[in-house]
Amino acid sequence: MNIAVIGTGYVGLTTGACLAEMGHNVLCIDNDPEKLAKLRRNVSPIFEPGLQELILSNTKAGRLAFGGEIGPAVTGAEIIFICVNTPQKNDGHADLRYVESVARQIAEHLCGEYKVIVDKCTVPVKTAEKVRQTILRYCTDETRFDVVSNPEFLKEGTAVHDTMQPDRIVVGADTEPARRKMLELYRPLVERTGAPLKLVSVRSAELIKHGANTFLAAKISFANLIAHACEEAGADALEVLEAIGLDDRIGRRFLAPGIGFGGSCFPKDIAAFGKTLEMLGIDSGFVAAIERINREAIDRFRRKIEKELWILDGKTIGILGLAFKPCTDDIRNAPALRIIRKLLEEGADVTAYDPQAMENAANAMPGVTFAANPYDTAQGAEALVVCTDWDEFKSLDLSRMKSLMRTPIVFDGRNVFEPNEMKSLGFKYFGVGR
Ligand code: NAD
Repeated sequence: MNIAVIGTGYVGLTTGACLAEMGHNVLCIDNDPEKLAKLRRNVSPIFEPGLQELILSNTKAGRLAFGGEIGPAVTGAEIIFICVNTPQKNDGHADLRYVESVARQIAEHLCGEYKVIVDKCTVPVKTAEKVRQTILRYCTDETRFDVVSNPEFLKEGTAVHDTMQPDRIVVGADTEPARRKMLELYRPLVERTGAPLKLVSVRSAELIKHGANTFLAAKISFANLIAHACEEAGADALEVLEAIGLDDRIGRRFLAPGIGFGGSCFPKDIAAFGKTLEMLGIDSGFVAAIERINREAIDRFRRKIEKELWILDGKTIGILGLAFKPCTDDIRNAPALRIIRKLLEEGADVTAYDPQAMENAANAMPGVTFAANPYDTAQGAEALVVCTDWDEFKSLDLSRMKSLMRTPIVFDGRNVFEPNEMKSLGFKYFGVGR
């Protein structure tokens, strides 16, 4: 099938490359000139395991191409994916201006054959109806089209794997032709992987995505609530949560205490879902509690640093991990940045290391010195702060790290290290909930 993908960020680029890998002809469009220049050289603008290889093999095979103009992509495609950013507005609502802009541009170029326009963005319920109205308002042709919701569940860091081996595919389509087209698109993937394909209404699909992200964020905030209780009561949150999670109605995944969730999705999606509930006349207190516990998790961690180190002015502090989670270079809303900002405000000298996210962080955090590896980060540091649980940190030579530090104090925001081992090595160690 001929496919257009508008927006080549984490979702659009992965979707485009994977659909090409499945044998479709894909034209990916972006209006960011820097990103496009890299893509035209077949260089991935983001770090995502396996993505660079897919770009190279599929452009070489002639199934994947990149462009800056929506017009030709729309004209030649049977299915058009909208994969643009839907950030958070100051009042918590989702900012849908990029979706609207793309809908308008699609409308101006719709002509000829029936087309399916697929919203892959995470959006509040009833957004597809607004997309449909926008297209009808600006369409210059009587072309038939349908708007479908096909929410994306990939996780940054495993985006290619999640797309090629999905847990489930959700397609919200309200007409028979749209359902048929989407089944034709996904049938080979479903047959190969056995992934369940849930065909639902458009409104249900939109709510599934916000519901799923809210539930996952709730698990993290629950883990942090338990961690707080353990710190006050003198219990171990890892022991408590492991045993809670062994109940298969609960499950162990996503029950890890730490410095809370960040990233480009959970914070904004949870806020947008809260606003959606309010618009539907439903109490949003549950969502507010998830957000409050998340904020408190990072504040409690910062207070631990300030309590132990007292005056931060002039102290050298090493940061291990900048990305909002491991295996990505994405620093949007990363807890590390909030911690670093506070340390800099208090006059600390901050040296940081991350295996992938330092280029992005350098643009966002001018006052930080970046180190070539974790050992250089430890050099002369009065404390180390672990903000991302990269595997690389789990196999560090801790004795060497200690010997490089001025004072061996570790604040482990991701519980990467074992408290007893750290103590026996001579570190003063602070984990979360332990
Ligand atoms: P992103 O910011 O990484 O990428 C969005 C891209 O769209 C950018 O490259 C931008 O230049 C481009 N764009 C914006 N307006 C455009 C226009 N008019 N024409 C062409 N290109 C345009 O965003 P993302 O992380 O890929 O997320 C996209 C959507 O998917 C969001 O709604 C997000 O909530 C959702 N989502 C994201 C993830 C994730 O892990 N990142 C997972 C699931 C769902």
